Amino acid sequence: MPSAPALPNSADVVVIGGGIIGCATAYYLGKQGINVTLCEKGRVAGEQSSRNWGFIRKQGRDPAELPLMIHSLELWEELVSQMSDDVGFHRGGTLYLSDDEKRYQSNHDWLALSRDFDLDTRFLSLTELKTLIPSIQDQTRGALFTPSDARAEPEKATRGIAALAEKQGASVLENTAVRGIDISGGRVSGVITESGRITTSTVVCAGGAWSSFFLRHLDLVFPQLKVIGSVMSTAPGPLVAQQSIWSNGLGLRRRHDGGYNIAFGGSFDCEITPDHLRFFRQFIPAYRAGKEEVSLRFNRRFIKELIRPTKPDLDKVSPYEQERILNPAPNLKLLARARERLSLVFPSLENIQTTNNWAGMIDATPDELPAICEITSVPGLILSSGYSGHGFGIGPGAGKVTAELAMGNKPTVNLDAFQLDRLVKI
Ligand SMILES: Cc1cc2nc3c(=O)[nH]c(=O)nc-3n(C[C@H](O)[C@H](O)[C@H](O)COP(=O)(O)OP(=O)(O)OC[C@H]3O[C@@H](n4cnc5c(N)ncnc54)[C@H](O)[C@@H]3O)c2cc1C
Repeated sequence: MPSAPALPNSADVVVIGGGIIGCATAYYLGKQGINVTLCEKGRVAGEQSSRNWGFIRKQGRDPAELPLMIHSLELWEELVSQMSDDVGFHRGGTLYLSDDEKRYQSNHDWLALSRDFDLDTRFLSLTELKTLIPSIQDQTRGALFTPSDARAEPEKATRGIAALAEKQGASVLENTAVRGIDISGGRVSGVITESGRITTSTVVCAGGAWSSFFLRHLDLVFPQLKVIGSVMSTAPGPLVAQQSIWSNGLGLRRRHDGGYNIAFGGSFDCEITPDHLRFFRQFIPAYRAGKEEVSLRFNRRFIKELIRPTKPDLDKVSPYEQERILNPAPNLKLLARARERLSLVFPSLENIQTTNNWAGMIDATPDELPAICEITSVPGLILSSGYSGHGFGIGPGAGKVTAELAMGNKPTVNLDAFQLDRLVKI
């Protein structure tokens, strides 16, 4: 899994990108009997969809995403029940600690807005928190808790969805970069891959951090930047909490094998690229809102992205083949700070052995909401990208509505908040 089928001459729909969004889209298309081919330049779940924390949460989301996220959790249950492998899906809940006044307030603010959605979210006092998690230390103000939230192992789950898509008849092609989209008579007529052309009338762009660059060859603007999130894993250790925990300085998730994934909650690195200059004005409000969380650095990526052609010659090796998998270096200093925080909050995990560390390039839009929409100026093109650091949990729901758009059906969940024209003129 996935197999290596030959490149088809034609498909009803071509999906670009084998992350959770592309895989779930292919699954829901296949389920409706649509002839779908998914092209992935590297390997399925090679980028964000294997590198994330694995939180599947309603808690803390923008209210605009909540209807889709609520539906997505139902779909997770359905998908996981069909999988042959255990992908670690577990409803352990999400817990946001209130370890400073700002977080205490933002937790209460979110609790107030969650009431419109009839969620099981509640605020735990310190006593209630200590009853739920007896070993927790260094807390004074309680926590926000949504018991019905879940978690899963990102790579296994995404590859599991790809396998289900194949069972429904989808062709999942790895090492198959799409170099560009063919337009004839003003609408999509095919894609050019590194292995040849596929005739199609409908293309879904689910290219994660590459979507903005990819769309440029069609003169389309998608304001999207990349930030880097670092994560470490540990060996199995004592069970301190089934809940996925987020706080000032600590992201913690119990893994299926009894180990933990740990990150320095809410802090990211950012390699400056020409797109930062291009989209500077649009991202100023987001940068101001979270500037203590992003450290900017200037390195070779700026030049690399500056010199790559925005309209590559489709007969030549493309940037997608030159960088098959985005694999940024983790920030070991941030991870060391996460371990310090871990030792304070859970002293019993102080000496737990680190087994691995990695980083992922997160794609973000100015308002941290995705674009899930038809591109009206290019009939036949659907965009489903920009999930801004929380696309794993919402992936099944997002895949389902993206498939519905590709079939020309009314989406199950209203997508008004996810139109691209809220960000740019299309
Ligand atoms: C460190 C970190 C922590 C995170 N934590 C969470 C979390 O706890 N919960 C949560 O919900 N989300 C989380 N996220 C976000 C989540 O991982 C992403 O939002 C989600 O995986 C995005 O899925 P995607 O399919 O859009 O993109 P991706 O998984 O990045 O997939 C896009 C794919 O498209 C392919 N591609 C691009 N261009 C082309 C082309 N031209 N031809 C062929 N293939 C192409 C790429 O190779 C890539 O595999 C986190 C992300 C990171 C990095």
